[in-house]
Amino acid sequence: MTIAAWVIAASGRYPVHVGRGLLSGVGPGLERGGFRGRVAVVSDVTVLEAWGPLLLLNLESSGYPPEVLSIVPGETSKTVDTADVFWGRLIESGFGRSDLLIAFGGGVAGDLGGFVAATFHRGMRLIQVPTTLLAQVDSSIGGKVAVDHRLGKNLIGAFHAPEQVVADVDVLGTLPARERWNGLAEVVKIALVRDAEFVAELERDLDSLAEGPVSARLESVVARAACLKACVVSADEREAGLRILLNFGHTLGHALEAATGYEPLSHGEAVVLGMKVAVRLSRRLGRIGDAEQARVLALLERFPRPLGLVRPSRDALRSAVLRDKKAVHGVARLVVLDAVGRGTVESLPAERLEEAVDLALEVE
Ligand code: NAD
Ligand code: MG
Repeated sequence: MTIAAWVIAASGRYPVHVGRGLLSGVGPGLERGGFRGRVAVVSDVTVLEAWGPLLLLNLESSGYPPEVLSIVPGETSKTVDTADVFWGRLIESGFGRSDLLIAFGGGVAGDLGGFVAATFHRGMRLIQVPTTLLAQVDSSIGGKVAVDHRLGKNLIGAFHAPEQVVADVDVLGTLPARERWNGLAEVVKIALVRDAEFVAELERDLDSLAEGPVSARLESVVARAACLKACVVSADEREAGLRILLNFGHTLGHALEAATGYEPLSHGEAVVLGMKVAVRLSRRLGRIGDAEQARVLALLERFPRPLGLVRPSRDALRSAVLRDKKAVHGVARLVVLDAVGRGTVESLPAERLEEAVDLALEVE
């Protein structure tokens, strides 16, 4: 297995593996490590249909017949009610703290499975096996696990580190193009705030990464993005400083997403719109020049345009920015660019906030 990175944080120290054909090595790896417990797999039915046999069969033949806990795909499964059903199944099947839960799927299975693992018997063992590009480069790394509450997304959760992350890029072969673009939005995001050289690579290859077959290029992009994320969360697991940069494009992106009721705008599409606004604001603040603004906007323009964008009201946007977790004592803060590949947090006085809202109202 290729280790792309290590996360070294207060909640745990674990490797992030990125490579091809890794799914079939999960069971044998546990066996080699002398694991003697039981295994539960939290996944969604789409992932189970496409890739379940590969993982489940090797677990089985390594001596770990898994208890499969499956969900209907999508955010609506990420609730405490689903967690409750899974807690019950684990109790009935006699699972304990030293047993293992494998979260196998996109960010929904990862967050939900991680939440169940964090809470069952005050925390059981966890391995993240992410199957979307977004999950491989973003949600499986960093230990944040959560379910949604009717009053907001990800409000009920914990930090619970996996003992490893196993990202097999082969599984991206069945991922719909829109989901690949979603993940690429987060890849471009982390490159823009942390890694200028990576931005240049993405400028060269973005379209083939989104639409082409699984390739060595895609594998190396996943590894590089995962490594950047691992590095950020190792430095700042609890989002006191550096990790805030990962919110680039997200403050206004979330506001736009919420305004459309999370449909039909995807998270990635919303983040791309949020990044476009943040880049324009970076220019207005004099942090980057015209050439840098044009360069970043040209990259973002290559993402497919969202269909049927619903415009939020000025008030809804403004209050979303002020309600954002980065706001301090009623002053909005936004991640902006200092250069291509370097993000920074900027406090926005009232008139700048209005400017940001103006830009967000007309972004497309
Ligand atoms: P998702 O888990 O809903 O997956 C998207 C779709 O892709 C689903 O329909 C799924 O069935 C399908 N799918 C997954 N893998 C596939 C494969 N290999 N082939 C074919 N289809 C496949 O969504 P997501 O975008 O992966 O994750 C979004 C979630 O992640 C949100 O709930 C968000 O809150 C969370 N998130 C968490 C963190 C964190 O730090 N914990 C960070 C970012 C996002
Ligand atoms: Mg995101």
